[in-house]
Amino acid sequence: MKRENFPILNELVHGQKLVYLDNAATTQKPQLLIDAIAKAYSHWNANVHRGVHHLSQVATQKHEEARQKVAKLIHAQSEEEIIFTKGTTDSINMLARSFGDAMVGEGDEIIVSQLEHHSNIVPWQMLCERKKAVLKVIPLQEDLSLNIEAFKEILNEKTRLVSVAHVSNVLGVVNPIEDIIRLAHEKGVAVCVDGAQSVPHLAVDVQKLDCDFLVFSAHKMYGPTGLGILYGKKEWLDKLPPTEGGGEMIEHVSFEKTTYNVLPYKFEAGTPNYIGSYAFGKVIDFVQEVGLEQIAEHEHKLAKYLEAQLALLPNVRVYAAGLPKAGAVSFNVYREDEALIHPFDVGVLLDRQGIAVRTGHHCAEPLLDYLQVPGTVRASVAIYNTIEDIDAFVVALKKAIMMLQ
Ligand code: PLP
Repeated sequence: MKRENFPILNELVHGQKLVYLDNAATTQKPQLLIDAIAKAYSHWNANVHRGVHHLSQVATQKHEEARQKVAKLIHAQSEEEIIFTKGTTDSINMLARSFGDAMVGEGDEIIVSQLEHHSNIVPWQMLCERKKAVLKVIPLQEDLSLNIEAFKEILNEKTRLVSVAHVSNVLGVVNPIEDIIRLAHEKGVAVCVDGAQSVPHLAVDVQKLDCDFLVFSAHKMYGPTGLGILYGKKEWLDKLPPTEGGGEMIEHVSFEKTTYNVLPYKFEAGTPNYIGSYAFGKVIDFVQEVGLEQIAEHEHKLAKYLEAQLALLPNVRVYAAGLPKAGAVSFNVYREDEALIHPFDVGVLLDRQGIAVRTGHHCAEPLLDYLQVPGTVRASVAIYNTIEDIDAFVVALKKAIMMLQ
């Protein structure tokens, strides 16, 4: 689907046709994104929001149109709720600072889960250290789904925020985020959804989910690097403090007192990545044209086929087998004597055959500790992958396994 729109997919790797299955790390870029960036720098580059001259006004308009496109993509109530950041990591750090400063005190609790990316653990840990608060963890069940009964038990009157991935970046599992949000709200607790692995693969509607915050990265959705989103309900963003000071985020500055700008600019200090936002807007148009439901269906079919093919290989262990997934499948390969073959060795042999997968801890060490392995091999799909890609991957994997036995 739309493979011809992504020029890098024509590259040869070690003389082989590239099969790119590392999409959960970052996706490849369509020609329209590359063209949009070249066009922006060639025709209307100027700093936004500050100029009365023509180019600045064009740049500002395009940047703000992109914000409207993001708001539409995730069904935010208004574009005031869309803050441009550098990426998911930046969004969570910003939220941990802002929410933490305003809402968290000594003895309060923040809840994350066992399967979070480091980006959704460390900023909260740092907040807990600053504020002498406590980080609580939703454990996993044997099938590697989140233990919702245990979540109910740790959720209490001291809980200030729950921050959980919609889709696990390691396992590809779609977490029961609706239940988590409902249970948290029953106790008056706010929820941040880490949508880094869900927004590119599923139709996400923040109003239907009723989440308080949602974060994601443009580069995992065919967009540019260095651009991310922090969505927050207006009532939250209105009352939370800015985390960075500088140009753009102010209304008026004097040495005696500074007042802050309106939403969303209060949270956007300095020159934003307006070329990136414009280009991402173009990508959003493209994704909407294809349709997120169609993308989800296509990727689900590929991931299911991939999991089924892996299940046929006797020495392969798939994690979270059978659970609902979006886009990614993680596995390990074992020798006849049950010894783990290091995922790096599998990854290197796949690479020699032109197959790009991710190996290692995937920035989720607590999950890997729980699984008691140093890493996994993760194959993750995107809009441009095909059944032929999966078949080529399986043939290459079989060869690698033979060589490593
Ligand atoms: N959260 C999840 C679930 C992720 O998969 C990732 C990246 O892999 C991140 C957070 C961090 O995203 P970024 O590196 O774009 O800030």
